[in-house]
Amino acid sequence: MATNRTFTMIKPDAVGNNYIGGILKMINDAGFKIIAMKYMQLTKESAGGFYAVHNARPFYGELVEYMSSGAIVAVILEKENAVAEFRKLIGATDPTKADEGTIRKIYAKSIAANAVHGSDSDENAQIEGDFYFSKLERF
Ligand code: ATP
Ligand code: MG
Repeated sequence: MATNRTFTMIKPDAVGNNYIGGILKMINDAGFKIIAMKYMQLTKESAGGFYAVHNARPFYGELVEYMSSGAIVAVILEKENAVAEFRKLIGATDPTKADEGTIRKIYAKSIAANAVHGSDSDENAQIEGDFYFSKLERF
């Protein structure tokens, strides 16, 4: 059964380029409600833990370095069919292949520095939200 929540991070490239406001506006305009939000920098250990599913991929080291290189914004979002709807809004992993009007098409620099994360399943949305937020931090 699809749940109505997903998890996103605004990644260090987008934060560094002052795109937080623009990205949050696109998210709100697409009908997502913000349930929880945090502005912070990941340690290498926490970035490695968050992306542990990718630890066998060739770009894992680069990904962990990059995701701990600057501040990120972590957000839990709510909308009907949230995981699929949010993946549609962000576009393909590689911004050169992302559809027009998607967040990655507009704001991402490269396949590695691709502006935002979006959960790929309901199960991972739950795990990723729990990685960052306690019950008291959700509204
Ligand atoms: P995310 O999980 O961040 O939403 P995604 O689901 O679109 O992205 P994944 O395959 O889960 O893509 O890859 C996780 C992240 O690893 C990508 O967002 C990107 O930052 C990085 N990545 C993926 N493929 C590459 C690659 N070929 N080279 C460098 N970095 C990559
Ligand atoms: Mg992914």
